[in-house]
Amino acid sequence: MPAHVLPFAVACPPIDPAAAPETIVLTADRSRLRLEWSNGERAEVLAENLRGACRCAWCTRARIDGNLAAPINAVAIDRLMPIGDYAINIAFSDGHARGIYPWPYLRLLARADQVSESAPDARAPAAPHDGPPA
Ligand SMILES: [Zn+2]
Repeated sequence: MPAHVLPFAVACPPIDPAAAPETIVLTADRSRLRLEWSNGERAEVLAENLRGACRCAWCTRARIDGNLAAPINAVAIDRLMPIGDYAINIAFSDGHARGIYPWPYLRLLARADQVSESAPDARAPAAPHDGPPA
């Protein structure tokens, strides 16, 4: 493999039919996508995480220049557009609509979101009940 090939390109090929979700649901508040695959796997990914992970030329340049360091909060998803049968284009409420998310990349981001949401720090301990146990 040539040295200039990005590791991501090998670890996450752009076309992988098994990574295509069976369903993609935009939640009513437009804050996240709910994905389900034919093997039963389910995951949710936040709009702001998708926006922050945009790989378009503009965002890639901004990332290299250090201008995309801050997380993009409170962004919603305005529109979803299929790109052939291999990816989805997402338009965000901040006006950015250049991002193309191939299925393997979308799955990667969704799985990463699940990890962060199930991390011990992110999940509050069960609140004690006021009354006696039932
Ligand atoms: Zn972008």
